Amino acid sequence: MQPHAGAAGPRRLLKRIRDLMAAGGSGQERLDQIVKFIAADMVAEVCSIYLVRGGNELELFATQGLNAEAVHKTRLAMGEGLIGDIAAHARPLALADAQSHPNFAYRPETGEEIYHSLMGVPILRGGRTLGVVAVQNRTFREYTEEETETLQTIAMVLAELVTGAGVAPGVGGQGRVTEALGPMRLEGVRLADGIAIGRAVLHQPRVTIRQIVAENVDAELRRLEEAVATMHTALDDMLARSGFVDGEQRDILETYRMFAEDHGWLGRINEAIRTGLTAEAAVQKVQEDTRARMSQIADPYLRERLADLEDLGNRLLQHLLGHGFRAEEMPDDAVIFARSMGPAELLDYDRDKLRAIVLEEGSPTSHVAIIAQALNLPMIGRVRDVLVKVDSGDAVVVDAQAAQVMLRPSEEVREAVGAAVQARVTRAAAYAALRELPAVTRDGTRISINMNAGLLMELDQLEASGADGIGLYRTEIPFMIRSEFPDVAAQTDLYRRILDRAGSRPVVFRTLDIGGDKHLPYLDDPRDENPAIGYRAIRLSLDRPVMLREQLRALLRAAAGRSLDVMFPMVAEIAEFEQARALLDLEIQRERNRGRPVPGALRVGTMLEVPALYWQLPLLCARADFISVGSNDLLQFLFASDRGNPQLADRYDALSPAALSFLGAIAEQCAAAGKPVMVCGDVASRPLEAMALVGLGFRGLSMPPAAIGPVKEMIRHVELGPLARYLRDLMRLPDHSVREKLRIYAQERGILA
Ligand code: PEP
Ligand code: MG
Repeated sequence: MQPHAGAAGPRRLLKRIRDLMAAGGSGQERLDQIVKFIAADMVAEVCSIYLVRGGNELELFATQGLNAEAVHKTRLAMGEGLIGDIAAHARPLALADAQSHPNFAYRPETGEEIYHSLMGVPILRGGRTLGVVAVQNRTFREYTEEETETLQTIAMVLAELVTGAGVAPGVGGQGRVTEALGPMRLEGVRLADGIAIGRAVLHQPRVTIRQIVAENVDAELRRLEEAVATMHTALDDMLARSGFVDGEQRDILETYRMFAEDHGWLGRINEAIRTGLTAEAAVQKVQEDTRARMSQIADPYLRERLADLEDLGNRLLQHLLGHGFRAEEMPDDAVIFARSMGPAELLDYDRDKLRAIVLEEGSPTSHVAIIAQALNLPMIGRVRDVLVKVDSGDAVVVDAQAAQVMLRPSEEVREAVGAAVQARVTRAAAYAALRELPAVTRDGTRISINMNAGLLMELDQLEASGADGIGLYRTEIPFMIRSEFPDVAAQTDLYRRILDRAGSRPVVFRTLDIGGDKHLPYLDDPRDENPAIGYRAIRLSLDRPVMLREQLRALLRAAAGRSLDVMFPMVAEIAEFEQARALLDLEIQRERNRGRPVPGALRVGTMLEVPALYWQLPLLCARADFISVGSNDLLQFLFASDRGNPQLADRYDALSPAALSFLGAIAEQCAAAGKPVMVCGDVASRPLEAMALVGLGFRGLSMPPAAIGPVKEMIRHVELGPLARYLRDLMRLPDHSVREKLRIYAQERGILA
């Protein structure tokens, strides 16, 4: 039998359910009726509703077709069986042969052994699973996509019934008694460093949609149209306002604008209204669909785009329900909790009130993480099910360093963390006082302290941190937050603004370091099996000379009449450096031929990130104007140890005899050749490591702005002569690490606290 695919869609069914709701009766009576309606309408022998109880269990609440005695008896843990699977992953499942599925869990009391096919969808509300509604058939029935959609629409109404009418105490959505959950410590992934204490704010307000079923479809279509128009105006306003802000912000907003005009997305919302939903219910349904799709997509770029679409849906809901954009409820120590978040949404918040961000999803390279790093906001991602465990107003501690979030911590924990945060603030104030003082060692050596940057907005920190310049400008970062490759004019504009903002301070531009884990959505680069040692950076640029030449052209134009410092990433041999440099020479010639001005001074350097290049260092020094040691990559290649793998994070130490010897030899050779050398990897940003670097002979360091104060403080207390001698002794030891010895050395001499 091929059952009807719901030609009238769920409209008729929705109508019946609405009438039922209007007729009154207890929650249980209504559920009993609803399963009958659904089974009849969908031509299924079974329809069952399972609801979440006590946070972790699903209980059979109503059924048509399974044994009636099983109601309120059959229970499944979250994730157990097919129903548990649907609930845990918040995604629909349709199986012609359910019993052969590896997750099938047989419950004899239900009598379900005679049913072969199963289709179930989660009952969702505000990103939380309240339960599951499922139909079953005796035959091996192939459920269609439209049938799944119909059931999802019905699930929305059920969500309403469960949360609104009070089906049973402790069930589903009502009474989020998170206080009763007590303190909790949850683990995630560090997306931006820092520590914070504050109060939870749910990014996506739990909107209550009062009416799900439309009275008048045309009126709902009109409401949608109006809300879309007001949203456009609001986005345009934001774009116009962003005339005062940075280019990157505008790029992000323009991407939003593009989505807002996406007909596929709006089409789906319109379609959902035509099935009989109100405009807001239709938006919410498309939102839930997007989320379900998101959980099945592995491609991080696509996931990010779907997340952007979800943000837009939230905005549209706000417009439909006439809410403003929530600013008024913000406490002044807000820790934002969200499933995912788009960069524009983060920028929407008042930075002064933000303390930290916690996401259920997110990756270190996501746009929102890049923005959080630029704003110096601690951010943790991939904290599983955190939205179920937190409620607005809960006290929270975010320790991004340890990738942990503590919900409702005890008074003692709060006090201890509060003291640590306060100590940081006091230290930051003390460091700010160092801003005007030079970074000179006790024996009179001036160390150049620079900052790393990648976004225009980070340049605010240049003045504030007292950095000597920008030692590493990662040009790939602005490329990563765009939706298409910026042309020469756009790049020129960006680089010019950077130089303008930097004023007299030098900026070292590094050409695109893409490939590997830095994927550009619009660049069709093959995925590598070993990304870090794969087709990336200069390797890719030399194979695509147009891309590199355009970037160099933009840099030359931006720096016309000024100084330009440029360097190439991941150079493994002199030949690569020469080839890249030749392209730069071609571009200079091209500009001259066209009568355009070129930079008054040009310095061309290279990153030293691949150990092989070390063996050509004397020859390289004769050719390059400066060297910049990328210790993140250099050390990962030296130890053959993935820099991004948390299991290896503490395996090898930069403060080990091998690493120190290698770094020391680089400093020595550069000094012998009279070549400026800087370290711009993470080691430069940690005071103890930075102490070792200056002891080894490095006179230039570049680091994130927040590290500048502590490193400068260390520099002003260190004496290089004895330290250099001590390091030479340490290099001869067979130890795994000399970290402890160096720490004691630093503490005994008052170099570090
Ligand atoms: C490095 O490898 O140390 C470096 C500074 O480059 P990135 O971190 O951008 O790879
Ligand atoms: Mg690198």
